[in-house]
Amino acid sequence: MQIIVAAAENQPHNDDVPPSWVRCIYCHGRREMSDHIYLDYNATTPVSLEVLDAMVPWFNERFWNAASAHTLGMVARDAVEIARHQVADLIGAHPNEIVFTSGSTESINLALVGALGSSSGRTGIVTAATEHKAVLDTAAWLAERGAYNRVLPVTASGEIDPEMLVGSVDEHTAVVSIMAANNETGVIADLTGPVEAARRFGALFHTDVTQAVGRINFDVEHSDIDLASLSAHKMYGPKGVGALYVRRNVQIEPVIHGGGHENNRRSGTLNVAGIVGFGVAAELAAKQRDSDAERSLQLISELVVGLAGQLDGVGVVAESTTRLPNTVNIRFAGADAEAIMANAPTVAVSSGSACTSMFPHPSHVLMAMGMPAEDASECLRFSTGRPTTSKDVTEAVAVLVPAVTRVREVTR
Ligand code: PLP
Repeated sequence: MQIIVAAAENQPHNDDVPPSWVRCIYCHGRREMSDHIYLDYNATTPVSLEVLDAMVPWFNERFWNAASAHTLGMVARDAVEIARHQVADLIGAHPNEIVFTSGSTESINLALVGALGSSSGRTGIVTAATEHKAVLDTAAWLAERGAYNRVLPVTASGEIDPEMLVGSVDEHTAVVSIMAANNETGVIADLTGPVEAARRFGALFHTDVTQAVGRINFDVEHSDIDLASLSAHKMYGPKGVGALYVRRNVQIEPVIHGGGHENNRRSGTLNVAGIVGFGVAAELAAKQRDSDAERSLQLISELVVGLAGQLDGVGVVAESTTRLPNTVNIRFAGADAEAIMANAPTVAVSSGSACTSMFPHPSHVLMAMGMPAEDASECLRFSTGRPTTSKDVTEAVAVLVPAVTRVREVTR
């Protein structure tokens, strides 16, 4: 999770502050949140107002349990089923193929642990070194319990080397898991080779589409995948809600037991309000994907041009690889990323994936792409979202340029 920090200089030190203020972790003073330029939409997005409006009644006025047998329970169940259709439509799935979860981390755990659990003797997992920790740590956890875990290397451009697939996937492989788009670099994977390799040996194919859905076109039939993990809070829906797509006829062992909800695939009382919000967010994402992408590309280009026009040593990571329209990872040669963030406290960006950046260390993704740790620690990820404007980008550049210059001067 990314902590928003505020500058030490010239800030009022007043504990009696309105909730629109954030606490500065450097000086413990306060700074108004509206001063901040948020360019970290891969970490999370705001709940859109349409989503919020749709959710509100389900907290109190319509608080019913979707598993209850009475009429009110059925009304809640209907709302969940509408959302199931909306989420399914976003990825070209059938509603019965959608299992609601608490988010992508849980979906990924269910996909990998569940695939191994139902694989009758197969114990192999094949994944890639640039995957999110939710995949890497789950695969490692399974390896500690007897699975064999092959982590494929990637090229300098963040892509899987097709040759590395040969021999990695075999008749012992239960599941191959390769993400559709990387959260730190935005690199979009060509899943064709990995899917074919899984198919050849009868293994399941899972993909983490957390950052891809709503940003690029992704269709489960077209991609020919078995399992896909997605999360509402990356597409202007609420946190704590997600889904696992499970292709019809694919069996996965449940991970959470008790009650048999979600067709015995994930037990637990459904988060009706969250699921309703997820559904509306998915419908909006399908409608706005192309226009969002067009705007994002323009804003990212303005950001890169603005920074590179005023600073030397600005390099885009995986510059010539196809990337998400809203994401750019930039190396500022000779300037430590954490130090830049401390000197540009009003610009909310990330020096690694949101889930690990509270503990600053060079990104495992960048290092897997062959970047030395020192270079990787000079990289910042910028990700735009629907609310981002050209003015935000201009202001971010205006704050970052002197910040990078200052850091370089101090460390020279
Ligand atoms: N996978 C990717 C690629 C992500 O970016 C994230 C979150 O940052 C996750 C998985 C975990 O998602 P969630 O926050 O829904 O558990």
